[in-house]
Amino acid sequence: MIEHDAPTEEKPRSLLSALGRGWRRRCPRCGQGSIFDGYLKVHPRCGTCHLELHHHRADDAPPYFTIMIVGHIIIGGMLWLETEAHPPAWVHMSLWLPLTLILTLALLPLVKGALIGWQWALRMHGFESSASDV
Ligand SMILES: [Zn+2]
Repeated sequence: MIEHDAPTEEKPRSLLSALGRGWRRRCPRCGQGSIFDGYLKVHPRCGTCHLELHHHRADDAPPYFTIMIVGHIIIGGMLWLETEAHPPAWVHMSLWLPLTLILTLALLPLVKGALIGWQWALRMHGFESSASDV
């Protein structure tokens, strides 16, 4: 007698959808519940669909990607401004330092949310299939 151990079919998860929902700081599965309890602290589970969010392992990746994004914007802007206008150093300091701080603080939760969405879509770190995966 042959036993049929059919592989469990897992519902595919859209990477782009999960990234977008995470970027908007929403649950990667339902897109309704908030991921964060505050600025960067992640809710243990989604308040809407009850997806367990504590599995995420964003660790140092959000600051890494945020620094990369902000660095490209700021350095590109600095080089462009210097090439086009040759402003004095105080103009650079008063423009780029606050802009760096504002961009970093604004982008960090968005990047962290997107990375959590990425981990969920790729079934990483405990985000494999779950009973609540409908
Ligand atoms: Zn949810």
